[in-house]
Amino acid sequence: MSAFGSVFMPEMAISWFDGSQWSDAEVVSSDSLQLHPGAHVLHYSSTCFEGLKAFRHEDGSVKIFRMDKNIRRLAQSSELLALPAFDEAMMESMIRDIVARFADEVPAPPGSMYIRPTHIGTEPAIGKAAVPSLTSCLYVLLSPVGDYFTGGDKALRLLLDDEGMRCPPHMGVVKSGGNYAGALQPIMKARAEYQADQVLFCPGGDVQETGAANFLLIDGNEIITKALDTTFLHGVTRDSILTLARDMGMDVQERELTVEELLERSARPGCEAALSGTAAVLTAVGTLIYKGKEYQVGNGGVGETTLRLRRALNDIQWGKAADTHGWLTSL
Ligand SMILES: *Cc1c(COP(=O)(O)O)cnc(C)c1O
Repeated sequence: MSAFGSVFMPEMAISWFDGSQWSDAEVVSSDSLQLHPGAHVLHYSSTCFEGLKAFRHEDGSVKIFRMDKNIRRLAQSSELLALPAFDEAMMESMIRDIVARFADEVPAPPGSMYIRPTHIGTEPAIGKAAVPSLTSCLYVLLSPVGDYFTGGDKALRLLLDDEGMRCPPHMGVVKSGGNYAGALQPIMKARAEYQADQVLFCPGGDVQETGAANFLLIDGNEIITKALDTTFLHGVTRDSILTLARDMGMDVQERELTVEELLERSARPGCEAALSGTAAVLTAVGTLIYKGKEYQVGNGGVGETTLRLRRALNDIQWGKAADTHGWLTSL
């Protein structure tokens, strides 16, 4: 098995903005991207991306999950990074066309085709540290992925960090390269010093998210997660899981969650915690590490509600349950 996201389809969809208009979308070899070494993105991180998936159903058809939400988020990220605006309908047809071209390669469940739309500032202008790139490029890469849970469905260990932050507070909603590079050192340190899988960033005691996934606390019939603001990424999986939880009659609370309340609730029997994101869907959290002490969440394993919510989402994605919220797009 190769690592998630390391295998690519041989072609991608691409379109260039020359400062006044977008070129017609083309399909080109996925290793052909020519950039000037002085390109804005390579110096000033004018880059944002998306991650969504296409699924193969039993009848052979291929469906894309919540494409509209992901395209909207890419448009918002682009705007917040002062990248040129693009037509969301053009992005949609680029995604549909490239997925259709490789429809035969979409793995069957539990695999899927991971779709990576990317927008970068291309203007060769190293003097523009404080000025937007006038030109840009949009491309859509495809990467077939297998079962995220091969090798076991183990509950993760998270280090709670209430001193640092993942990114500046106004940048959390932007799925942008710089945010990830900036979080690497704290994550590597947590791995080396605490054998933690991820860091749960909790600036000033406010429980936010990890490096690439949202955090949910599940306590009996309650699901608690931070209310949307600009400080963290508004996950499409988070939104989908909360919607399904409401459908199941759960008490969904989008509000502030402090480290203190998190640790207090975690100790209760039956308490669960999970990370949500497109890659991992919903992954259980079994241990929290805070100020050198370890706290087990519930029984420390993979919780029943976590599994039930993950299955409910997978069932819709895989065409085994009715798509009651209209989340799937046919090619
Ligand atoms: C992508 C991402 C998520 C999860 O978003 P989904 O839309 O559910 O995939 C959460 N946090 C960060 C920082 C992310 O980059």
